[in-house]
Amino acid sequence: MDNRQKWLFFIGSLMIGLICYQSANSSKSPVLGSHTSTKIATSQEEIGAFHRPDIKEKYGMTLNYFDVVEDKVSRNDLLSIILDKHGVSAYDVDVLAKKEKNLESTPYLIPGKKYTILKNKKTGKVEHFMYEPNAYKYIQYDLRDTMNVVEVKKEVNKKVVTSSGVIESSLWNAIVGSEDIHASMVQAIAANMEDALQWSVDFHHVQKGDKFRMIFEEDWIEGERVGVGKLIAAHFFQDNNDYYAIRFKNEKYDGFFDPEGRPMKKNFLKAPVKYARISSRFNPRRFHPVLKRVKAHLGTDFAAPKGTPIMATADGIVTKRSRTRGNGNFVKIKHDETYSTQYLHMSKFQKGVTVGTRVKQGQTIGYVGSTGLATGPHVCYRFWKNGKQVDPKRQNLPPPDPLPEEDKEQFFLERDKWIGKLKGIEFKTIGEENIPTEEEIEEMEKDSSDSNP
Ligand SMILES: [Zn+2]
Repeated sequence: MDNRQKWLFFIGSLMIGLICYQSANSSKSPVLGSHTSTKIATSQEEIGAFHRPDIKEKYGMTLNYFDVVEDKVSRNDLLSIILDKHGVSAYDVDVLAKKEKNLESTPYLIPGKKYTILKNKKTGKVEHFMYEPNAYKYIQYDLRDTMNVVEVKKEVNKKVVTSSGVIESSLWNAIVGSEDIHASMVQAIAANMEDALQWSVDFHHVQKGDKFRMIFEEDWIEGERVGVGKLIAAHFFQDNNDYYAIRFKNEKYDGFFDPEGRPMKKNFLKAPVKYARISSRFNPRRFHPVLKRVKAHLGTDFAAPKGTPIMATADGIVTKRSRTRGNGNFVKIKHDETYSTQYLHMSKFQKGVTVGTRVKQGQTIGYVGSTGLATGPHVCYRFWKNGKQVDPKRQNLPPPDPLPEEDKEQFFLERDKWIGKLKGIEFKTIGEENIPTEEEIEEMEKDSSDSNP
């Protein structure tokens, strides 16, 4: 080596040393499975005019020391099939399979998921097989010495982010209900918001000009967004009303509260189905589409695809589960001495829900259908007060109790902080550019499917 090469080599080694030191520092014991080690550091900083080789850090190792094979699981792939291709003996695979039993659950190779094989550069022998069933973790098959299999959870960074929008009704429908936007972030966000505000905001009647702002967490791993975390606070503007929901958590509570400290969760849900549209309102003088004559409509119809789960709108006891010519399959629930609700035209009942069953608010009791006198799949939701059918929209239902005084002070601090932040978010019209393309959604799904850590 001439002097210049020596100098380069020295700088290079120094950098490798430095990076290894940092990663050793940041990674606690991988066996405990509670750390991150997958940092890809591909710095290309220039030292003067000289370039040094890219250092690739992943799985707590410097990949440069290995021959690296990165691939995705194919259909019908098994651990034995993949490793056999790389010269691992059936005996060794068997040992690994036994070690897999130490894990909480046996990892299954899912077609399309990523794996990485690290081979010794000199001998060509496989030293590690890393399988990534989702963005949140990987399974490390260590083939050195006594061999071992461990699950390593990656470090999740929570980022607090904000979002806002002015609704064009068709756009909103596209975001929450569209069939071609599946388990994407967009839907997760919409679901989060519905969870917080469904008792106050009429999501079945969202109109052009309605506006929202929200603050929520995102999960980031290795510099990439992998999922939506909890909603922290939301504001919805509808019919000249401002609705705020603030998440509050202490030893006793974990839920959403309005600015006065009352639970957002009311005694009755606004609707027995999610993402449905009201196809016919409570109307004592409606022209009946099947009977072709004026007949009071004493319910509210929510149109939704056949098979959509129907939820109990409040806690109660099932008093009827039956079928008549007009109602089709229906369930009736008694909530207290005053109120009962009834759900008609079900395609089928939920298993285990029979007369006498205690149900919780939000619990599935059946599925949308069009049994009985119905032109299409919908649930006819009927609200009974003291034995008479009434319009739930016109009832002044008793509000739930607010937080007790001793928790209010703590809550008000949170409230002021988050409402202040919400008010600082500018409303922006949702334009095409803010909606992920189909490809982006597919990409997100691939990365974050079954992504619950
Ligand atoms: Zn109806």
